[in-house]
Amino acid sequence: MPMPLVLPRIDDDGLLARYPFLPQGSEFIKRVLEENGISIEELIEAPWLEGVRVRGRIRLVDSVLQEGGVDESSTVDISTEIGRMTEALSFLHAMLVVCASFDERLLARWIEGEASRADRLLGIDSDSFPLISGSYLSGIRADGNGARDVEYWVPLADFIELCPRISGNYWRLVNRPVIGGWVCLDAGAGESSRERTARLIKERIREHLHQGCLDRMERMDDEFAAMFAEPVERITGLLSERVEAEMPMTVAIREDWPPCFESAVSELNQGVNVNHVGRVFLAAFSRALGLPREQTCNFFANAPDYAADTTTYQVNQIYEREYTPHGCPALKTNARCPVQVGDDSLCDQEWMTHPLKYIRAKQRRRYQDTATPEAPVDEGEESSSANSS
Ligand code: SF4
Repeated sequence: MPMPLVLPRIDDDGLLARYPFLPQGSEFIKRVLEENGISIEELIEAPWLEGVRVRGRIRLVDSVLQEGGVDESSTVDISTEIGRMTEALSFLHAMLVVCASFDERLLARWIEGEASRADRLLGIDSDSFPLISGSYLSGIRADGNGARDVEYWVPLADFIELCPRISGNYWRLVNRPVIGGWVCLDAGAGESSRERTARLIKERIREHLHQGCLDRMERMDDEFAAMFAEPVERITGLLSERVEAEMPMTVAIREDWPPCFESAVSELNQGVNVNHVGRVFLAAFSRALGLPREQTCNFFANAPDYAADTTTYQVNQIYEREYTPHGCPALKTNARCPVQVGDDSLCDQEWMTHPLKYIRAKQRRRYQDTATPEAPVDEGEESSSANSS
């Protein structure tokens, strides 16, 4: 990947807040955390950082649900220190939620949203363009005078690597002027040369974000990922409602199910009379997993008191009102936790307070087993600070 050997120095905090995914952005985010004395735990739950989390969620929802990705017109005023902090940390929060989901489709949607936003911003941001392009391309040359008429040239190596990912005749090398190892990205298809170059840079941003997230996911341990169980559940639940047909089935793999969910499903299937808490938990947890309502209703088909209409009505209520599944303490109190100490090492963990944490931990382990079969991760090596940027 012919990234620049030396990154241009960026002293403008406003620019780093607007483009927090820049290679130089990780140092900036670290500095924001340090200067404000914010730990990852506080980022997740401190009341005074609620605005950051809300902005992160909006950013995430925009990215994964809107066709055009994140709205580039930020509602945050980055001329203020609090505005810059909000932009930088909301990006970090959204990225950590995506990584903690271990859901590759969610990851791909978020990256596409952020990269599309960057593409649009860069196309209109003539002041920042030289610094940003210099951070992602191994070189760039501008010919001509006047912002609209400038023609940008990029090194052949960058173009050859990135252009196959973009459709359209414009992006075939045979259709580009090439002189002395430089490729001209002149105006075309209704876009200026800068907008065309921004499109090419979008591919490098996507690649850089993807690699950064994969590295982070490999380093993330169960306990750290579990801290994000609630926002992960909310975003995957939203995805399941809005894009049901595309919902990643990885969330529904049975080996990932916690014993409490597995036992509720199995007992009902065998005609055992599962109590009220167990039934509500089963339906709410199914919704959190993104299972279709019909499948959830089918879980009850062998119950001794089964009535199709009643079951459909009650399952619909739980889906529409977005019931949060019971946590471990409530399930234990209501005799719906089937494990004893030693039965399941995950359930024995001190931090295991919710079955959603269980399933995220299982997904993380499966993801890491697939990603690095020869080099299993030492699950004790990660710390909160190592995940902070
Ligand atoms: S400890 Fe929690 S996750 Fe594990 S089976 Fe019991 S209720 Fe479910």
